[in-house]
Amino acid sequence: MSNGKPKVGIPRALHFYRYFPFWKKLLEELGAEIVLSPPTNKRIVEEGVQHGFGELCIPVKIYYGHVMKLIREHPELDYLFVPRYVSEKKESYFCPKFLSLPDVIKILPNVPKLLNFEVNVKEFPIATSVISLARQLGKSQARALEAYREAKAYFDEYHSFLRAGAPVLHALRLVERNLPFTLPKKKKEHDIKFLLLGHAYNLFDTYINLNFQRKLRDEGADSLTIENLPESIFKVPVIVNKKLRNYWVHEEEIMQAIRYYLTKGRKEIDGVIFLISFACGPDSLISELIMRDMKVVGLPFLEIIMDEHSGEAGLLTRIQSFVEMVRRKKNQMKLMSLAKQRAKKSELF
Ligand code: SF4
Repeated sequence: MSNGKPKVGIPRALHFYRYFPFWKKLLEELGAEIVLSPPTNKRIVEEGVQHGFGELCIPVKIYYGHVMKLIREHPELDYLFVPRYVSEKKESYFCPKFLSLPDVIKILPNVPKLLNFEVNVKEFPIATSVISLARQLGKSQARALEAYREAKAYFDEYHSFLRAGAPVLHALRLVERNLPFTLPKKKKEHDIKFLLLGHAYNLFDTYINLNFQRKLRDEGADSLTIENLPESIFKVPVIVNKKLRNYWVHEEEIMQAIRYYLTKGRKEIDGVIFLISFACGPDSLISELIMRDMKVVGLPFLEIIMDEHSGEAGLLTRIQSFVEMVRRKKNQMKLMSLAKQRAKKSELF
């Protein structure tokens, strides 16, 4: 606490990619100084794999690696921020790995004190957790509620920025550097566009996904993610076979995006790509449902399963062949529709 501010470490992993703007604003409004771990690298992954047991999915192992990195390089940390996300909406839950995260992190060696912050709207409002968080940082209830208001307003602004088309990594960089939200220069648009599905920590950790979006761009394909889609798509729940509801919050968002692109938005994309972590139960389940729907509407679908052993060459081959197949299909359709138009014209004369 060199400048009188408590130092709080945040691992750049898991929900960092979803909630960092909110956490940053909230903690800073409560007088904390944030120390972020660096982007994922080889050493972080190796250390995470060493501390995570075999069956864990890779994003959680990476989280361990980021925690270890913060502990080793920042012995001056007063706290580590490891929130417990249980439910954010009344009718859905987070994956069980998020429910137990603070408990498993506590047992790592030399961990500083954890700041307790639980999001569980089924049991209590978020404001209650914010008041408890503020108390741990020596702040009053009034300060807590003011900080919460500020953080919510900033987070809303961040989401509007994403919906205006800002790429998530660009937006997060601006947040990190306290810069205003300005869109990057428009890049040249390609003839192929995919909907890229997956958890934010799979899509935006460019080390573990081997810079997937850049590879797609290099092959002449653009991609959009659910963060860029309008809010209206996520208002109504998806009911599978008229009776099954999805109780995992992120998987529900994925299904809602798919429902839109299978119906109204069918012409807006050329295919769907789903990045999944090896050993992820929730994603493998919905991947089956998505694949079934894709077959029905004839929309190309590619599923990529990632783990710490994923190789650059294999991934590139899969991307290249998928893009090539989609491009050929698109060109064939164009030719067929041209031929139809010509046939119609000649009937008229
Ligand atoms: S949703 Fe899947 S990838 Fe994410 S933490 Fe749970 S098991 Fe791991």
